Amino acid sequence: MSALAPPDLLQVRDLHAAYGPIHALRGVSLHARAGECVAIIGPNGAGKTTLLHAVTGLLPSRGAIRLDGRSVAGWPPEALVREGLALVPERRQLFATMPVGDNLLLGAFHRRGPGAARAVTEDLASVYALFPILKERVRQPARTLSGGMQQMLAIGRGLMARPRLLLMDEPLLGLAPLVIREILRVLTELKGRGLTLVLVEQNAHAALEVADRGYVMETGAMVLEGAARALAENPRVRAAYLGGHVE
Ligand code: ATP
Repeated sequence: MSALAPPDLLQVRDLHAAYGPIHALRGVSLHARAGECVAIIGPNGAGKTTLLHAVTGLLPSRGAIRLDGRSVAGWPPEALVREGLALVPERRQLFATMPVGDNLLLGAFHRRGPGAARAVTEDLASVYALFPILKERVRQPARTLSGGMQQMLAIGRGLMARPRLLLMDEPLLGLAPLVIREILRVLTELKGRGLTLVLVEQNAHAALEVADRGYVMETGAMVLEGAARALAENPRVRAAYLGGHVE
């Protein structure tokens, strides 16, 4: 690391995880510097979701996980959320029959104590400023929203935890090109505010466009890493993940 580079907010070293006999993570290492957007691309079944679940404490794993230099391996998910680590899960996992506003407030469920109510109200206003459509639909059940709006709601709920590090699992999956643009705009804006982002995505084109650095994950291990622009120009990445992609 150069003397001028910001410190790592997240450091993962030699992480292993298994589902019974399936060794889904085989010594994964990655890092994300404070304020960086890191993309993890790779095919179905590479272990990307498993990696996010291991880092957020949802799945037992073996190896080193450090947040801001402090070992958090083995910590339960709720303790990690309190430390500023939030996950926007695959397929959104919203509370379908609950209104938009309540789904957002659930993202802040752990925030208690002096000043918390006011900070939560401020953050709600900030989420509505990022995604004005959510304010218009505040009383609508989540299930009645379009896929794009549901994804905005899932990101908004993640932000309500006031994270330092936001991990996102396939936030662009199944979305129309215009909605993808909108989500990328918001991710760029969040990065501009200093939030650290780790983005797992099969849409390598879009992910490498918004990211600073990227990793390619295959069969439970990182096989390539580099600056997002360099990865986007890498012949192997182009052939496997960018070939014929039209947006
Ligand atoms: P996708 O893009 O399809 O979500 P991924 O890169 O996120 O793929 P994972 O979902 O992490 O990959 O899966 C990694 C490996 O672990 C795959 O072989 C998958 O079949 C296996 N796997 C994932 N979840 C389970 C589970 N609950 N039980 C058993 N095996 C699992």
